Amino acid sequence: MKDNLCSTTNPSFVEDGSIIMHEQTGIKKIKEQLASWDKEYLWHPFTQMKDYVKEKPLIIEDGEGFILRDIDGNEYIDGISSMWCNIHGHRKKEIDDAIKVQLDKVAHTTLLGFSSVPAIKLSKRLVEMTPDDLTKVFYSDNGSTAIEVAIKMAFQYWQHKGYKDKTNFVALQHGYHGDTLGAIGIGGMDVFHNTFKPLLFKAMFAPSPYCYRCPYDKDRTKCSFECLSSLEEILSKNSDSIAAMVMEPLVQGAGGMIVHPEGYLSRAKELCKKYNVLFITDEIMVGFGRTGKMFACFHENVTPDIMALSKGINGGYMPLAVTLTTEEVYNAFIGDYGEQKTFFHGHTYTGNPLACSAALASLDIFENEKVIEGLRPKIDVLQKRLEEFTNLNSVGDIRQCGLIAGMELVKDKGTKEPYSWDEKIGIKVCLEARKRGLITRPLDNVIVVMPPLSINTYQLNKMMNILYESIEYVT
Ligand SMILES: *Cc1c(COP(=O)(O)O)cnc(C)c1O
Repeated sequence: MKDNLCSTTNPSFVEDGSIIMHEQTGIKKIKEQLASWDKEYLWHPFTQMKDYVKEKPLIIEDGEGFILRDIDGNEYIDGISSMWCNIHGHRKKEIDDAIKVQLDKVAHTTLLGFSSVPAIKLSKRLVEMTPDDLTKVFYSDNGSTAIEVAIKMAFQYWQHKGYKDKTNFVALQHGYHGDTLGAIGIGGMDVFHNTFKPLLFKAMFAPSPYCYRCPYDKDRTKCSFECLSSLEEILSKNSDSIAAMVMEPLVQGAGGMIVHPEGYLSRAKELCKKYNVLFITDEIMVGFGRTGKMFACFHENVTPDIMALSKGINGGYMPLAVTLTTEEVYNAFIGDYGEQKTFFHGHTYTGNPLACSAALASLDIFENEKVIEGLRPKIDVLQKRLEEFTNLNSVGDIRQCGLIAGMELVKDKGTKEPYSWDEKIGIKVCLEARKRGLITRPLDNVIVVMPPLSINTYQLNKMMNILYESIEYVT
């Protein structure tokens, strides 16, 4: 394997002109330098830096397919799809080429009042492939902003419609919609969000259909959707003041890969319709094939009023997000200039042409390689392998939806007693997995399985072997 650091010509690596690049000592020094600069200059997201600086950092230099390589040449399976966004693997030729072709035309131009070729083509494609009633595409550049757009769009819609009191939002406990203030305002993850409470608008939270820890102590097989009655109560009592309900369809991701029981999604949508509340689906994680269908809402034939997409939109290459909506919502913003019905929102890099070109290439791959059709055998392998984990005493619950899985580790299977936060059990398992050649990141006590959709069954099996050994070893 070529050592890329050898070919680095960045003069900042040559401190005193004495390091000759092809000498092993020089390379070693560069690696040490990178590790120390990482700790000195970089503040990592969602990372306790006190712990981080004690460990040798994992610094990725290149990758191909579902394999990532660090600066020491060690190879890892990318078990979390580079934070849930990679779809077709790394360095996918068609996407690389699409970006290069666009780069030779122009890298970035604005959508604020002007348009661009890739953004136009992509909006048509997205409207054609999403549920029928979604007809308009609003661009932004990451998942959180797609949610901010959805919130503001829903709010302003009701203002224009003359329902001035419809200013509130309903969301689910354990929900996650991003880290900007609007998104955390509807976020139901207390650990992430409590600190910022004083800064947030007030939202109402309905119980999550988290069957393993059912808020009503019901058994998965003998429940009558008590959680939905609670949602209905909130909606019926506050229908005059609620603008929209926001939820992650089928799987609540960051909340712990909580897989919803069948029928929850379509029933929630029905309730929103009944009480005149817009229904916003956050498909940022579940969109683009993750659940086994192109979009999660296809599983229950649900058309939301507003839909947010981001992570997998261009195969996980660069920042891009969209918020789709209906003619009904869009039309409420149409008026004479002086009426000020314009949707006042837009980011500098909104609908970036390189990112849109990558997205078009990614959608071509979905068609040409029949990606969705090819998922079934992989989903079956994953399901089969997950069954083995029930042998492990520490695995309390196993949840799967498509190529997404979460395994909740518990201290006591009988009582479901959780590991405490400071035991860092999930982190320990993932560090162990890393030693064995797998990159993954836990959600507290939940071990996450989220490989690129393009992973083959051989690597998928390897990944599951590593996870099994790591959980067994640590617990
Ligand atoms: C990741 C994620 C977001 C936030 O997206 P960012 O690009 O990280 O801002 C929102 N909702 C869901 C369901 C997500 O998984």
